[in-house]
Order: sequence, then C-alpha cells, then structure tokens
Amino acid sequence: MKEFLKTKGFKMTPQRELIFRSFFELDEHVSVDELYDRVRQQDNSIGYATVWRNLKLICKVGLAEEVNIGDGITRYDRITKVPHGHLFCTVCKGVTEINVEQLVGLLAQAANSRGFTPDSFKIEVQGVCDGCHGKVEGNGQ
Ligand SMILES: [Zn+2]
Ligand SMILES: [Zn+2]
Repeated sequence: MKEFLKTKGFKMTPQRELIFRSFFELDEHVSVDELYDRVRQQDNSIGYATVWRNLKLICKVGLAEEVNIGDGITRYDRITKVPHGHLFCTVCKGVTEINVEQLVGLLAQAANSRGFTPDSFKIEVQGVCDGCHGKVEGNGQ
C-alpha cells in the first residue's frame, strides 16, 4: 500500500496508514461517520476532516468509489474486479451486494448495439430486505 501510494505521488503517514487500514478492514459501504468512529477507537487525535480527506484520497487513487443509495448518505465502497449491484433496504438502511455480471453483460450489449461504449455501471435496487419483511408486516413471528 505504501509503495502504491508513492507511485501515485502521495506520502504514507502513520495517520493515513491507520485510516486506510481501517477502511479496508471495515465491511464495504462505510460512511465517513462510520470510518471516523472506527479510526477514533484507535487514535482519538485524528479529526473528522482528516478522515474525510483521506477517504477522498482513497477514491482518487482508484481504490474505492462513492456510492449514493437512496438515503442521502454518501458511502464509500471498495472497487471490486467483478461488477456488483446494491440492494438498499429503505427500512433498516442496510446494503446488500448482488452479483450483476450477467445483467452488466446485457446492458453492455444493449449499449454496444447503439454504438455506445460503456465504462461503468451503477445498479441499485431499493426495497425491503428479508430481515425487515416480518417487522413491516407486523405479524409478530
Ligand atoms: Zn458495493
Ligand atoms: Zn432491512
């Protein structure tokens, strides 16, 4: 990671290392607040702005991207080799990843047939997750 940043022209400081490590240890789709909490557990001298700046840096060097799913909170997602989609539960705000390889293939075909070359896909589905169905229907299982 250090070497990787160097090649991109960034220095790795201990604070930055902690922020980066925390980001990759956490599950995907973290908000700045969640990462901030995590980082503060280990070093409470790190400020919110520092965490935010470093998240932006992680995106800038191509290791993560911003995702905005429905609730106005910006989350940060590690870039994965295989494209994935998101199921966003509007009740618990949970995010589940789904494999969208086949779907992306179809989309690419449709785009290509119009002479369009796609370079990224965003597939987001909003609804109610399995765990929340029972709660919503209130049938007290
Ligand atoms: Zn994701
Ligand atoms: Zn849910």
